[in-house]
Amino acid sequence: MRRKFVAGNWKMNLTLAPARALVAALRERLSPLPPNVDVAVCPPFVYLFPMAKSLDGSGLQLGAQNAYEEPEGAFTGEVSVAMIADTGARYVILGHSERRHTIGHHEDDRMIARRLRAVRAGKLVPILCIGETLAERKAGQTNDVLSFQLAAALIGSESITAAELIIAYEPVWAIGTGQNATPAQAQDAHAHIRRDLRRIVGSATADGVRILYGGSVKPDNAAEIFAQPDVDGGLIGGASLSADSFAAIVRAAAPAAQPVSAR
Ligand code: PEP
Repeated sequence: MRRKFVAGNWKMNLTLAPARALVAALRERLSPLPPNVDVAVCPPFVYLFPMAKSLDGSGLQLGAQNAYEEPEGAFTGEVSVAMIADTGARYVILGHSERRHTIGHHEDDRMIARRLRAVRAGKLVPILCIGETLAERKAGQTNDVLSFQLAAALIGSESITAAELIIAYEPVWAIGTGQNATPAQAQDAHAHIRRDLRRIVGSATADGVRILYGGSVKPDNAAEIFAQPDVDGGLIGGASLSADSFAAIVRAAAPAAQPVSAR
């Protein structure tokens, strides 16, 4: 059975003092951590080191919001995988829709594939974000977009194992809008992604890869979404900035992660 995973994407929010306060509050609310859920927070690069210290001994893990594909060199403003690994972070979000569509860089699928290979080579775990825009959904192209983004990102990574990859299905129209995908829409997309994964990386790996849902997850919709058979947790934006909300979402992931006999 796949362990649930809940990650908080802080985006470009919080300065040092509130970030420390958030982690302190999370430690309090999530102690003890549900034994069947992995939990991570993904602060901006500059706070990775101090947050690693704040998280020490809590069981909560750390992730970065991006990484550059080259190991070193004249790439002003970029951060390498080895630099991220030095902080103690274990995960790297890649291909977030804000980086694909909003921020000046407009990261494309080839760039994301290169970064995914670099993250894997650096022994960190990519959280690969894929998802359709509202126009694509309305045009009936959701599955095609997901297939394309998935296949493109995994070029050169076909031998990846389940432990080396996390995918986040994040419909662009649901991110930060308050309009979440319905549990059925999420399940349909996740099942499609897993079917495609079987073809690209083989059934054993595809069945073990955790596929998170992201897009306006809140304490009151998390349990129903996480209960879907192919939804293995969530990537949480806005609601990860409140310790109460994020802890409630983590707890919502816990019951569905218990083996049937323990319910
Ligand atoms: C995200 O940024 O990955 C995200 C899912 O944001 P939100 O939860 O705010 O929609």
